[in-house]
Amino acid sequence: MLKVESLRISITDRCNFRCIYCMPLYGIDFLNKDEILTYEEILMVVKVMMKLGVNKFRITGGEPLVRKDITKLIRMISALDVQDLSLTTNGYLLGINENLAYELKKAGLKRINISLDTVDPFKFYQINRPQNLLKVKNNNYSFHKNYVNIVIKGIKNCLKAGFKNIKINTVLLKVLTVKDILDLINFAIENGLILRFIEFMDTTPLFDINLYVSYKEVLNDLQRYVKIEEYRDSKMGEGPAKYYKLTVNNDSCFIGFIYNTLDNCKECNRIRLTANGYIKICIYQEDGYYIRHILKSNKDSFQKELELENFIKDILLIKETGMINYSIFNKQRNYMFKLGG
Ligand code: SAM
Ligand code: SF4
Repeated sequence: MLKVESLRISITDRCNFRCIYCMPLYGIDFLNKDEILTYEEILMVVKVMMKLGVNKFRITGGEPLVRKDITKLIRMISALDVQDLSLTTNGYLLGINENLAYELKKAGLKRINISLDTVDPFKFYQINRPQNLLKVKNNNYSFHKNYVNIVIKGIKNCLKAGFKNIKINTVLLKVLTVKDILDLINFAIENGLILRFIEFMDTTPLFDINLYVSYKEVLNDLQRYVKIEEYRDSKMGEGPAKYYKLTVNNDSCFIGFIYNTLDNCKECNRIRLTANGYIKICIYQEDGYYIRHILKSNKDSFQKELELENFIKDILLIKETGMINYSIFNKQRNYMFKLGG
């Protein structure tokens, strides 16, 4: 029987970017502050999950680093001695705040994934659409360049802080040329990073078939320029990715491809907690199971934990015994920034 092992915790739906595959530019109905789970409430969920055998936690969002006192949450979860504690970020604030990577490491963060779709400044600006972050009046080239360079600085700050096996997440889009991909590969090789190419997922209302490119097409294109060997190592990642060892001249790096297929569903051992307190057992599931009312009740923490445990136990069983009706879920489309990608 499948065992749910990992929980993705979205701590905010806010973000300082508006990536074209994740978040619309306008008309977003953001959560109010009082709708979002507090760190103490998140901690209670983590404790209960650990009792139920879930022991790997990833902090995500929206952009998790825009939430205040993120290091406090990392410290709180880390103190529970969890098997894995990681974070996915767009990296921007790691470049702006020189000490943040170090503080996260010190607080107990074990691993970090940083999203970077391209090292080309102008394409970065067009794809990731940073939101009025720099007070620059004119729309010139050096202004675009700043954004990607800040993310790159963020990645370097993580290396300096001592993070190992840093993964870079790149969403594959038609607008990226082989040169763009090779530039990313060279960047990964130079800095000892693991690159993961993610197919544009059709789980969001923003899915656009005209921007979609399959990983196989990209792999075929790459094979004309670099040596690629399939690589099987269970330690490379918890997700449904295919890994390859790639060699350019005498240097090499690992790349992974994460692709869209419902075949992965049978092996999917992760669930999600949204910032406003819904547990989702499938990326396609629209509503999920609401747990915030249990966390907010007037009962003492012992009773709350017990109630939560019984409730979550049943939710996990639905997933573990394969009782999910995927044909219903498949019709749902959720914005990634709301879901916690
Ligand atoms: N803001 C953080 C970041 O960008 O890394 C964390 C949240 S973001 C929703 C998590 C991951 O989801 C990112 O790596 C992003 O590239 C990926 N993502 C968002 N929308 C996607 C889509 N439609 N298809 C594939 N990956 C997507
Ligand atoms: Fe923000 Fe991450 Fe979504 Fe981009 S992918 S809009 S950085 S939450």
